[in-house]
Amino acid sequence: MCGIVGYIGNSDATPALLSGLARLEYRGYDSAGISILSGGKIATTKRAGKLGVLVEALKKKPLPAGKVGIGHTRWATHGSPVDRNAHPHIDPEEKVAIIHNGIIENYQVLKEELERLGHYFSSDTDSEVVAHLLGIEYGKSADLTDAMERVCQRLHGNFSLVAIAIDSPGVLIGARRNSPLVVGLGQGENFLASDVSAFISFTKRALEIGQNQVVTLTADSCSISDFNGVTQSPREFQVTWDASAAEKNGFPHFMAKEIMEQPKAVADCLLGRMDENGHLTLNEVRLSDDEIRDIDKVIIIGCGSAYHAGMIAKYGIEHWSRLPVEVELASEFRYRDPIITRNTLVIAISQSGETMDTLMALRHAKDQRAKVISICNTYGASIPRESDGVIYTQAGPEIAVASTKAFLTQIVAAYLVGLYIAEIRGIKFIDEVRDILEELGELPEKIERYLETSERLKDLALEFKSAQSILFLGRHVGFPVALEGALKLKELAYMHAVGFAAGELKHGPIALIEEGTPVLVIMPNLNSPLHDKMVSNVQEIEARGARAIIITAENDTSITSPRAIRIPDAPTLFQPLLAVLPLQLFAYESAVVRGYDVDQPRNLAKSVTVE
Ligand code: GLU
Repeated sequence: MCGIVGYIGNSDATPALLSGLARLEYRGYDSAGISILSGGKIATTKRAGKLGVLVEALKKKPLPAGKVGIGHTRWATHGSPVDRNAHPHIDPEEKVAIIHNGIIENYQVLKEELERLGHYFSSDTDSEVVAHLLGIEYGKSADLTDAMERVCQRLHGNFSLVAIAIDSPGVLIGARRNSPLVVGLGQGENFLASDVSAFISFTKRALEIGQNQVVTLTADSCSISDFNGVTQSPREFQVTWDASAAEKNGFPHFMAKEIMEQPKAVADCLLGRMDENGHLTLNEVRLSDDEIRDIDKVIIIGCGSAYHAGMIAKYGIEHWSRLPVEVELASEFRYRDPIITRNTLVIAISQSGETMDTLMALRHAKDQRAKVISICNTYGASIPRESDGVIYTQAGPEIAVASTKAFLTQIVAAYLVGLYIAEIRGIKFIDEVRDILEELGELPEKIERYLETSERLKDLALEFKSAQSILFLGRHVGFPVALEGALKLKELAYMHAVGFAAGELKHGPIALIEEGTPVLVIMPNLNSPLHDKMVSNVQEIEARGARAIIITAENDTSITSPRAIRIPDAPTLFQPLLAVLPLQLFAYESAVVRGYDVDQPRNLAKSVTVE
């Protein structure tokens, strides 16, 4: 998984490539490099480390000016993150340069074949075989498009590729299978990139490239073919994000900005969901009412925070639609022979729409004839393209690796699916659905109200700065919230953190409590039968020395703890959208006080496009 960008036009390519890479760095960031075609040669600079290392190297020794070039930020899968493994990779005759996102699964066989021909490899990556093969094929016909098509026919696995060649200074070539690649159409200049954020400051006109396609760009033309050379007609779309939306807007980190954007993200997620007759409408769900009525089981798949969003959504979807809902990690799903029929609805949740584990699980479900609705934040990504319907979360670009606004909007979007099914199946009347939507509509204001008073989390982060281990407890919808709080703390503050269903405490985890152990507790609503049980759980852990921080509703006067964190009241099913906010802030502040890189935590990447 990585970020790739290519430029062809009338200006010097380096500034456009570096600006694109800066926007794409969230996709992977262990190395970066660019190649420029200039004076009949390929000039390359690549460095291990963050993009800043490459930028410094280029300041000291700039590349020659050139009007076509390619750039890459790497997240290593094959070969350690060192300079020589960074992309671009060049063929031995230095005729072509390529960048690659994904994994070439048959690279070993191809490498051995090339070595028998006398090729020497200068990196340990799987990607370098593509440069060598392209060099050979390009040598045969001097037509870069033909050469790329022939190379792609030989590759197994997932890839998006972008290439340049010395004798084709007016051409930029791309190809994709499973991994993401989009075209940006400018005025006298064109772009190829992993996603639109790389070129939105240059153009908002974009083209989707389908599976197994090769794209050939010049400064003012674009043509697309499949791997056999058959011409394809791409779909053009207009990017609706502003360039400024992808920047920090004065916040110290993208994550801080994205946490504060949550009221708007939830409001935007609810936009346009009702028709003039008050019916819930999900425009991009291409399933007939009969197909919806035939559904007899729902399976939600996702990874990381998206999985937790699915766990929360289960409570709402089951409650409203009366359909059984299973929630499963996408990476486990297809390996256990799940029971899927044509009446199963699979809901695939992925912020990027490119999460490889989820994409593969989705394909498995489709092979068994299940219906698939995806919940994604990225237009035109692979997962929505391969689904029978999609609910775009409309949260805007999420750049910080740790998900915040995407998580909240995933819950809302999945709830919308539940309500939609309930209405079509006749389980809920229109006015009931409308009442629930109205309650949902009150959330942005409540989220905003909480975020305005969120300063306290800084003090708590400082107080627990040296804690060895932090526990999170929840029940019912609060249980996945506890899991999400623990995940956030692990990924951002590198602290040992575990979430538990509070009822399980006495079955084991209570043994972890010792003098001073911090425990974050998500208190169920006062009217819930679980409220008093959780109060007892808190007493049990405090009796054993725990320091409990209790996240509880404003109206819950039964909680008098000085460590109570008050969130606005909300119906039980909507409480997670508020209860998770202090947990996001706690993880954020804990990372800040510990001096860690909030937006790009170690070992992680935003969009996990490898299995
Ligand atoms: N498999 C390639 C490598 O390890 C590309 C990884 C990526 O997508 O960044 O270099």
